[in-house]
Amino acid sequence: MEPEPPSSDSMPEAHTAHKTPGTTSIEMVEKDSTLSWVYKGCTEGKLHPDLDFNLIQDVPEVYALCSHNNAQPKIYTVDEHNSVKECIVVAGTNVVDSGSLIQITGRSISHGLVLNKEQFLDKVYHIPEDAIVVPSFTDSHVHSLEYGFHRLLPLDDAESIPVSLVKSYILSNPSVHANKTKWIYGWGFDKTRWHEDSANSSFSSTSTDSEIWPTYHAFESDPVTAGRPIWLTSKDGHAVWTSKKVIELAEGRWGFEDGKWPDNEDLEGGRIMRGKDGRPDGIFLDNAQSLIHVPTPFEDNLMRFEIAVADALANGITAMHDAGFLPETLEFYERTVSEGRVLPIRMYAMHNFNASAPYWGNTTEKYDHKVNRLKMSSVKLVCDGAMRSGGAYLYEPYTDDPSSFGFMRLPASLLNDIIPKFLKDGWQVNAHAIGDRANGLVLDAFEKGERELWEEQGIELKERRPRIEHAQIMTTGDLERIGKLGVIASIQPTHATDDMWYGEARLGPERVKGLYAFRSMMNSGARITLGSDIPVEGISPLEGFYAAITRTDKSGNSPHGSDGWFPEQKLTRLEALRGMTIDPAYASFSESTLGSLEPGKKADFVVLSKDIMSVEDPKEVLKTKVLATALDGKVVFGQLVN
Ligand SMILES: [Zn+2]
Repeated sequence: MEPEPPSSDSMPEAHTAHKTPGTTSIEMVEKDSTLSWVYKGCTEGKLHPDLDFNLIQDVPEVYALCSHNNAQPKIYTVDEHNSVKECIVVAGTNVVDSGSLIQITGRSISHGLVLNKEQFLDKVYHIPEDAIVVPSFTDSHVHSLEYGFHRLLPLDDAESIPVSLVKSYILSNPSVHANKTKWIYGWGFDKTRWHEDSANSSFSSTSTDSEIWPTYHAFESDPVTAGRPIWLTSKDGHAVWTSKKVIELAEGRWGFEDGKWPDNEDLEGGRIMRGKDGRPDGIFLDNAQSLIHVPTPFEDNLMRFEIAVADALANGITAMHDAGFLPETLEFYERTVSEGRVLPIRMYAMHNFNASAPYWGNTTEKYDHKVNRLKMSSVKLVCDGAMRSGGAYLYEPYTDDPSSFGFMRLPASLLNDIIPKFLKDGWQVNAHAIGDRANGLVLDAFEKGERELWEEQGIELKERRPRIEHAQIMTTGDLERIGKLGVIASIQPTHATDDMWYGEARLGPERVKGLYAFRSMMNSGARITLGSDIPVEGISPLEGFYAAITRTDKSGNSPHGSDGWFPEQKLTRLEALRGMTIDPAYASFSESTLGSLEPGKKADFVVLSKDIMSVEDPKEVLKTKVLATALDGKVVFGQLVN
């Protein structure tokens, strides 16, 4: 999903009316004997001073982490041979050795890391019985600030039009309640979950769209929500539902008085839903969101970032690929590191491409701030929309909407121009493509880039490690072509288990076979990298792991039964683990330092309560807890025990 960034003039306060705790200041607490960062209620202006999450447990400069007993090695190193070791040794920020306790003790003494055996054994942590260690997870497709924003007022679980959630949010936050100009943001509404009776007068069907959407009238009919700027983003990020106030503010900014908004035909890659009078009535799809967007203050973004990081570390994630550094996000991260802050997580940025801005591939610097953990060397192109909202661009019309093929957000002619250009200027090109036709067009442009790169610079396309983000619906021919070209498929297993319930209705019985066909891609030689697309899906990598290996929902069901939806497309556990560790490292040019627990690499690891690699019932994966997360050898969540 590729939302326009939401924003606010000041952050709403914490609320108690919903499942998510309040937010803003982050403090360390001990809960169930696990140390973790939690957010405390809102305290405006009280931000974590230096984003230093590395205080949670004091570990020695040199230490070893070992399996519970020496007969059963439980440290999955994810090296080339997928070796499982008894112990690893950490010195400073790196793994420096691995092997049996006897081996590493001897070598640590002979290498002068410690003076003697007693001193070494003092520095050995053991994991609990049944626990394992794996390299900490990388999420290859996130929207980090949007995730933090989502956590403030999540709407995902609403089973009817969620105006009451917005209302209780306002009522439970006195300073929001008292200030009618305060922007209110929510994320995750999913009209497909709402009961029939929600389809009341708040909904309207516009002349050009067969789909029913909510309108701003839903907010205006309640005195608590009426007259306020309210911005609610849909679950997939492609639709924004606003109050009337947001529309009026935009009319004032753009001079759209008298409701003279641009026609939908003039909005490339976007749409505005309109009432009978032709004026917007509350829904803005894709690029149309830019018309109503206002910038977010730095402090609000910092808060959103901290929320995202705290959740990531608690879930064993120490690196993220942000799939869309919009100008505001870019500015936030660059300012954060330029002020000397060290990010408490590794961030690999995809610099967003905007068709209306001049080409910047030859003028923008790529960077890798190793100390501050921010790296940017890729460009993100949002080529089409999403399947759920009907924006994925298809060769044949949607089976359940024969009038629609979806749409491109960037025309093919532009892709053929800029993709080769970015590649020749040294950028990794990460193209969002969901529909089969969008994927085909992107592969065409990569082919053109391949020729030009080779002819003009003698460089192979593979060296640029191009990626397709999502790569959801592909023709049989393109499932072959993606592998031949060496394009990385950046895929999200939980999207598959979400969309499996309606995929066939949208695409029909034949075309659906090319939807989330992970195994077919890999058979063609394509590399994969796994992610969640937070906040579209949940943040837990274990849920992604489970979805990849079962292709069922959490209760073990799928449209094709308990063996999974198109079970032949499942990933093995090893493929899933690699897809969240070493594969994302490769997909971000970081495999020499990240992604596996080998001597010389960063000591980024996670201790899991159960052996997800061997536990018989895959549902145990969902019950697995993160016991500790380490980044650069420091414990940033949970605890290691002696
Ligand atoms: Zn996305």
